[in-house]
Order: sequence, then structure tokens, then C-alpha cells
Amino acid sequence: MASNKAYISEIFSSVQGEGRYIGCRQVFIRLSGCVFDCPYCDTDFSAEETVSVGEITLSNPAAPDSVAEAVLHEYDPRFIHSYSFTGGEPLLAADFLEECANILKYRSGRKTFLETSGLIAEQLPRFDGLFDIMSIDIKTHSDKVLENIPVLFRTVTGLKMSEYYLKLLLPENFRRELLDIVVGQMVSFGIKDIIVQPVDNKINGYDVDCLFRAFYENGIAARVIPQAHKLLGIR
Ligand code: SF4
Repeated sequence: MASNKAYISEIFSSVQGEGRYIGCRQVFIRLSGCVFDCPYCDTDFSAEETVSVGEITLSNPAAPDSVAEAVLHEYDPRFIHSYSFTGGEPLLAADFLEECANILKYRSGRKTFLETSGLIAEQLPRFDGLFDIMSIDIKTHSDKVLENIPVLFRTVTGLKMSEYYLKLLLPENFRRELLDIVVGQMVSFGIKDIIVQPVDNKINGYDVDCLFRAFYENGIAARVIPQAHKLLGIR
């Protein structure tokens, strides 16, 4: 029988620094491992032999019920907005994710939140409804992204219960043709809003003008939102 244990990089409480729920207090459960190798990745998702949950120490790989119980014990659910499963790529540990999110969601009454690279979209329907909110990245530095976009958009627009939003990760020297592809695919799938997140919080005036024109001309409500946790100097 396959193990549903997973390697956890860190568990901590902080402020969500990105996207639609910027500013909300969350407990972050960062899983180890990723499917991609983004050149701008600044996330340490490697795992140690143990992981701390407040005063509790768990061995890696950790069982989903142990993680959920430790999180419930150490962080009073009344004072958090949601539990964020992040990475790396949390969808690589799908069985762990399902069990741990289930326990947290139904024992705490708080929301469950998934942060995914969007590169294994086929896993998302399994979690429709289990996660109240899905934050889905669109990476813009690789042609692999272009191939993935139609599958990703078809999948997210098919979600019936989870709220989702798209976050376009935009490097300073973004490729205009890639933006056109994203906009074109959004129009074809009827997706009407997007958050643009400049990589390293850097964007120049020309980019902003070009961006808003591309989205607004096509009826898409775009917002540029930086990574607030970096501005605040917190993780
Ligand atoms: S998908 Fe995210 S975690 Fe993975 S390499 Fe890219 S930025 Fe890092």
C-alpha cells in the first residue's frame, strides 16, 4: 500500500503576501519537492529529518494526521483565516494533501488554501471542494508553460466548488508574445480576471502600460500586486 506520508519543509504562521487574499493570516504547510526549476525560485523547499510545528517536532516524512493534529494543537483556529498548503509543489503529495486538508478543514471550521504552480493541472479536480481556495500560478519563463495553458485553463474553469484565481508571474523582461498567448487563452475560456505578480517586485512603466492595455482591451480585470511579505520583511 502506498504511503500517504510526505516530506514537509516547514510549518509556520504568517501573513499571506500574494494574490487575492493578501494580508490574511495563515498557517503555511510547505511541502518539499517541485516539478519545475524556475530560474527566479527563492523558495527553500528542501526537507530536514524533522519539522517543527510550534513546540512539537515531527519526523520526516510526516503522516497527514500527525501534521493536522500538531497544527490544530499549536495554532488556535479562531485566530487564523486559513491553512495554506504550499511548496515546492504540494500536488506531488496528493494522498497526504487530501487527508491532512480534510482533517484541518472539518476539525477547525477554517478555510483550506492551495498554492500550486499549475503545472500538474490534471490533479486539481480531485481537490475540487476540499480546498476552499486555489491560488494557481502561471509561470512565464518557459515554452513548457505555453503547452500547459490550455489544459490548465480548461481544468480550472471546470472546477465546481473551489474558488480559484490565477496569478501571472511576470519577470522584468517578459516576452510580449507570451502575454498575448495568456490573454488569448483567457478570452477563449471566458476567464475574466487575473493577478499579475512581478518577479522580485520589479516592473517598469512601459510594462505596466503594455500589460493593462493587453488585458483591458480584452475585458479582463487585471491587477498588479507585489509580494507584500517581502516588503514587510517577513517570510
Ligand atoms: S514552481 Fe515554485 S517552488 Fe517550484 S521551482 Fe518554480 S518558483 Fe520554485
